[in-house]
Amino acid sequence: MIHRLQSIVQEVNRAPGIGAALLLITESLTRDLNANACTIFLTQKDKPDTLVLQACSGLNPDIIGTVKLKLGQGLIGTIAARAEAMNLVDAPAHPKFMLVPHSGETNYPIVLGVPIMAHRAVLGVISVQRREGAFNEDEEAFLTTLAAQLANSIERAESQDRFSTEKATHIIKGVAGAPGMAIGVALVLNRGINLDSVPDKKTADIDGDLQRFREAVHRVRDELTEQAELMRASLPEEECALFIAYAQMLSGGSLIDDTEQSIKEGTWAPSSWRDTVEQHAHVFSQMEDSYLAERANDIRDLGLRVMRKLMLEHIGDIDFPEFTVLVGDEVTATDLADVPLDRLCGILSAHGSSSSHVAILAHALGIPAVMGVPNLPVKQLDGVELVVDGYNGSAFINPSKSILLEYRQYLREEAAIEQDLLVLKNQPAITTDQRKVTLLVNSGLMSDYTPSLRSGAQGVGLYRTEIPFQIRDRFPSEEEQFLIYRDVLNTFKGMPVVLRTLDVGGDKPLSYFPIHEANPFLGWRGVRITLDHPEIFVTQVRAMIRANFAVNNLEILLPMISGKTELLECLVLIKRVRGEIEEELGQPIPMPRIGAMIEVPSAVYQIEDICEVIDFVSIGTNDLTQYLLAVDRNNENVADLFSSLHPAVLKAMRQIVQGAAKSGTPVSVCGELAGDPLGVMALIGMGIDSLSMSVGSLLRAKKVIMSFSYSELAELLEQALTISDAAQIRQLYAGKLDERGLGGLIRVGK
Ligand code: PEP
Ligand code: MG
Repeated sequence: MIHRLQSIVQEVNRAPGIGAALLLITESLTRDLNANACTIFLTQKDKPDTLVLQACSGLNPDIIGTVKLKLGQGLIGTIAARAEAMNLVDAPAHPKFMLVPHSGETNYPIVLGVPIMAHRAVLGVISVQRREGAFNEDEEAFLTTLAAQLANSIERAESQDRFSTEKATHIIKGVAGAPGMAIGVALVLNRGINLDSVPDKKTADIDGDLQRFREAVHRVRDELTEQAELMRASLPEEECALFIAYAQMLSGGSLIDDTEQSIKEGTWAPSSWRDTVEQHAHVFSQMEDSYLAERANDIRDLGLRVMRKLMLEHIGDIDFPEFTVLVGDEVTATDLADVPLDRLCGILSAHGSSSSHVAILAHALGIPAVMGVPNLPVKQLDGVELVVDGYNGSAFINPSKSILLEYRQYLREEAAIEQDLLVLKNQPAITTDQRKVTLLVNSGLMSDYTPSLRSGAQGVGLYRTEIPFQIRDRFPSEEEQFLIYRDVLNTFKGMPVVLRTLDVGGDKPLSYFPIHEANPFLGWRGVRITLDHPEIFVTQVRAMIRANFAVNNLEILLPMISGKTELLECLVLIKRVRGEIEEELGQPIPMPRIGAMIEVPSAVYQIEDICEVIDFVSIGTNDLTQYLLAVDRNNENVADLFSSLHPAVLKAMRQIVQGAAKSGTPVSVCGELAGDPLGVMALIGMGIDSLSMSVGSLLRAKKVIMSFSYSELAELLEQALTISDAAQIRQLYAGKLDERGLGGLIRVGK
């Protein structure tokens, strides 16, 4: 059964359009379930209460497109309205039964129908019919499973179809990733990480493409032969044979010939290769013999190896549009580094959410991002004009003139807001009842600190040291780290600079220290890794303390702390390092202030114990929200549930503030909430007086602080804490911001 299911889903995914895909399903189901007829009705996009017959087999095909049913009308409409399967042995006896004229349906009284559901909505109904023999439980389970699996494929095929058949404007909805708006041209930068999102393109340079393709093939073939040689020493002959077989596939034959033929016909080398690989893999996947069917994966694996080489060569030749919107299945931090920053104006990614690291990076760079767009037609977007709205998480493909005019106006309004805010840069962040707030920046992503200094930042509240580790192909040496840290400490001389020790793990990987875990967010992350590898921790702390020698503005922050014991272990190492450096220098050096990130729920409940051994705490609202709400911060499927203004997060933060107050330990916040104007209102109301955020958020946060009194924000917080719904809490704060005429700080134009 699984094999049949997989094979139907694969065929549907390969079908050239939604019509062909649906027809294929009806034919396969009629055959596999020994049915006499099969129908698929889908709801209309603009009229979700109407179902239209889109495909059928065993019935008169002329009725396709003509039969329309309202929700609740007939058996099909009832299945859709109830979102429930029906398995009937005598359909005409059912009170909802309705005869479809000219279909020939009366001959088939046995009906099994199931709804096709996606994202809580009914997409349509699949039904099969028989003249005799009831559908048994297995068949019902088969159809239900198939409908659940097909929902995504149907959504994807529908969106691609709509996009390729109409050149009209398409609005797509994702998750707000980083604030701001942009108008630009899509650039699909696929480093060959997956075959699916290689863009469809024509080539103007057939000879050049042929040459690049042959070079990529040669290089992979040589690598495979070398690997086989190396493995021969430690692996049995038959294991090495796989590499030899791979290399042979690249030495000639239809994989190569078909691709070259397609390039000669004018198709770009990467899409020619992708199509050939997919065709060959498909032939294997359809084979009944499971060993041969498995070979489809080998072909795709080989396809990816060649694709990576091809795409890397291609990246070197790219002519970046003046306003580039980077588009991808999963845009990564490395992708960002490939685009010249002065050309990058927006990001559109099929996966991810606002607290994915790439979205945080985009926010820090001031680049609007829309993440987690289901069924984004990535392959077809290269070179297409786009509008990206990072405030509400939407984008327009081929925007119409009126949308362009509207967004140009928004961009002007936004520029005016930024301009107005500039007068605040040298003014203190102080509430109307004279409560001072320290505003710091999050850094580590860029080596250019000028924007931070110009925005009036009072120091660095979070320097993510993992970034210099991520952009190298080995651990940076103590000296390399020393130079990086000395630069930031000197630049912010006289102001605090909080350097966080290495916070990597399965979600923020280092290419040279791979960690593969089934559940990386609950795994080996942050201080858990560095305590297991004291040599990494000690080298880093040595570099930090040495860099601090003359400037004395270093504070060290420890990530992913889940209890006091971890902190004590870190402190032993830090004190040891300081002692060693004192010995080397022959003079006493100051001990930096040490802080703990509070981002793991267990730390919230031990806040008083933790405060006994450190100098300050910094709340990481990104992870704290993720762990308190059990919502993966990278997963767009649950992005709607991720809210740092959730009552549980607010209550946890209040507990931290109250617990820390008992020992007078200062509390600051460095997660994304600290830069969200609504978050600023909540945090100030909680009594927090130190916030660290992306530089682009700083003046907006200052404006908010200067527009309210602490006492009214404290009252507002009490009101917010009586509400049990995160969205309503947001509304409460957004309403207050609007009342002050500051709604433009969180969204422009709407
Ligand atoms: C956080 O978790 O809120 C935080 C600031 O750290 P990061 O986003 O780097 O995990
Ligand atoms: Mg964190």
